[in-house]
Amino acid sequence: MALTADRRRELLAAALADGADAAELRDFPLPDRYRAAVTRREEVESVLAVPAAERDPAASLHVEEVPRPDPAPDEVLVAVMASAINYNTVWSASFSPVPTFAFLDRLAAEGGWSARHGGDRHVLGSDAAGVVVAVGSLVRRWRPGDHVAVHGNWVAADDPAAQQDAMRAPTQRAWGFETNFGGLADLALVKASQLLAKPAHLTWEEAASTTLCNATAYRMLVSPNGAGLRLGDRVLVWGATGGIGSFAVQQCLAAGAEPICVVGRRSRVELLHRLGVRHVIDRTAEGFRFLDGQDRVDVAEVDRFAERVRQLSDGGVDVVFEHPGRETMPASVAACRRGGTVVTCAATTGYRIPLTGDGLTHESVRIVGSHFANYLENERANDLVRRGMVHPTLTSTLPLESVARATRLVRDGAHEGKVGITCLAPAGAGVTDAGTRRRLGEERIAAFARAAAG
Ligand code: NAP
Repeated sequence: MALTADRRRELLAAALADGADAAELRDFPLPDRYRAAVTRREEVESVLAVPAAERDPAASLHVEEVPRPDPAPDEVLVAVMASAINYNTVWSASFSPVPTFAFLDRLAAEGGWSARHGGDRHVLGSDAAGVVVAVGSLVRRWRPGDHVAVHGNWVAADDPAAQQDAMRAPTQRAWGFETNFGGLADLALVKASQLLAKPAHLTWEEAASTTLCNATAYRMLVSPNGAGLRLGDRVLVWGATGGIGSFAVQQCLAAGAEPICVVGRRSRVELLHRLGVRHVIDRTAEGFRFLDGQDRVDVAEVDRFAERVRQLSDGGVDVVFEHPGRETMPASVAACRRGGTVVTCAATTGYRIPLTGDGLTHESVRIVGSHFANYLENERANDLVRRGMVHPTLTSTLPLESVARATRLVRDGAHEGKVGITCLAPAGAGVTDAGTRRRLGEERIAAFARAAAG
C-alpha cells in the first residue's frame, strides 16, 4: 500500500483529528511506501561529471515513493506536516564535497538496525514538524498524536561520549544528511532524542524552519560550548539575514548583546534596522573583498574592514559569528578586540582558510569550532521560540514537489532567512494556540515574510 494522494489525506486527517490519541493513531494502517525527496545512487557518476559550481539541484533531487522503515526500539515515525531547506540540502544535491551515499554506507556497515540506512535512495532533510504516528518499544517521553518539531542531531544513546556532549560523540551524525529517512518527505524516521515540543503558536512550516539553524546559532553564541555570550557583548554577525545569521541576530538582541551585522544587499540592511539592529555593514556597497586576484589575503582590505568594525564597536567586537570561511576569516580575526572569540560552524566559501598569526598571538583571539547542537541546546533554543523570544525567519514556502527549486534559491543566496517546504499539511496550518500568536504579534512572527513580500 503506497501513500497516494487519497492515503495522504487520510493520514493527515488521522494525525490531526481533534483529540487524535495514541489508540486511534496506533490503529491507523501506515502505508508501505511514502513520498520523499531523494538523491539516487545510480546518478552519482553523471552528477559528478558536471563541474561542482554548475550542478543543478533539479538534475539530482527527485520526489518519488520509497519503502517505509519500521522504527527501531529507540525510534519514532513522524507524519511530516512541513520541513525546510538547509544548506546541507545544497551540499547533498550537488554531491559536494562527497556524495552522501558514502555517509550512508559507513552507517549501514555497522549492521543491525543501522543497515536500513544503506540502499540506493537517500531521503534528505534535517528539519521537520509533524505528528508522531508510531513509537518504538523503548520510547517513554513521546506517544502517537504528539505535535513535535524535529531537530537533526542523531546520536547513539549508548555512546559514552554522548553523555557529556553529544556533539563530541563519534556516533554523532546529521540526520537527513549523514543518515537516511530525513524530513523532506511525508514520513520521517527519527530517534526519540530528536523530538521537541512544537511551538503551538506557529504554523507547521514556521515550526519546521526554526530547529536546525536556531539551535546551531544557540550553541555558537550562547552555550558555554561556544562563545558564552555575555550582557553587552558586541557581536559581528556575517550573513545576518541568512539561515543561521537571522537567528544569531535575534539571540543577540534577546540576550542584551549588540549585533554588528554584515549583509550583501541594501534591502537586508533595512530589514535588520526594522528588527532593532543599529549597525549594519553592506559589504557589497562598501566593496569589501579580502582575497586579491591571486587568491591571497588583501591585508589592506582586512585592515579597512577591521577599522570600520572598530568604529562601530568602540574598539573591536567580543565575538564574531563566522561561517563564510575562506573569504572572511582573516577579517573576522582582525575585527576582534583583544581576547575576543571567533566562533565558526562552516566554511561556505572554502575550507582552505588563510590566516595571519598576529591576531591570534598578539591579540589573544581564540577560534572556537562549533557543530550543530546537543539535545539540551536544541531544547533551550526551541524554548526561546516557544516563549516568543526568538521568531521564525521564513520568507517563502514551496510544496515538496518544488524541492529542487527551493534548494536552488538557497544555493544562489536569493532568499533571506529560511525557505519552508509543505509536506502533508497545507501552508498556514498547524496553529493550536492562537491566543499566544495574537499576543506576540504577527508583525514579529512574520517579520521576514512581510519584508520579503515587500
Ligand atoms: P544561507 O541561508 O545561505 O546564509 C548564508 C549567508 O552568508 C548569506 O545570506 C550571505 O549573506 C552570506 N555570505 C555568502 N557568501 C559570503 C561571502 N563570501 N562573504 C560574506 N558573507 C557571505 O546559509 P545558512 O543556512 O545561514 O548556512 C551558512 C553556512 O553554515 C553553510 O555553509 C551551512 O552549511 C553551515 N551550517 C552549518 C551547521 C553546522 O551544524 N555545522 C548548521 C547550519 C548551517 P549576504 O550576501 O547578505 O552577506
